Amino acid sequence: MMDTLFSKIIARQIPADIVYEDELCLAFRDINPQAPVHILIIPKNPIPKVIDATEADKDLLGHLLIVAGKIAKNEGHEEAFRLVINNGENAGQSVFHLHVHILAGRNFNWPPG
Ligand code: 5GP
Repeated sequence: MMDTLFSKIIARQIPADIVYEDELCLAFRDINPQAPVHILIIPKNPIPKVIDATEADKDLLGHLLIVAGKIAKNEGHEEAFRLVINNGENAGQSVFHLHVHILAGRNFNWPPG
């Protein structure tokens, strides 16, 4: 697949405020935060959208959620945080490198907008 903006962040070609990294994923603060804490977790091996994931990705996708919880806890928000994955333009996806948004530090409405 084409290099995305996020692949460039992984390669350190674009700067980012990185909060977590391991062999499978990278997490960094969103440039346009929608909450006091807004962090994106991305797999290092890019998948464009959730719909493109296969059985072979199940451990990786599970890992992203486990890491999301650890990051929320590290940020002091283990009691309340929201995870969002947008799939497709009409659902709000703008970067086609699968990412989990971690949002915390304010109250969230349901249903989401
Ligand atoms: P999406 O809309 O695809 O679900 O989320 C993409 C997110 O990436 C948006 O929240 C947007 O603010 C964030 N973003 C876009 N460009 C950059 C960038 O260069 N650096 C960082 N840290 N975040 C970015």
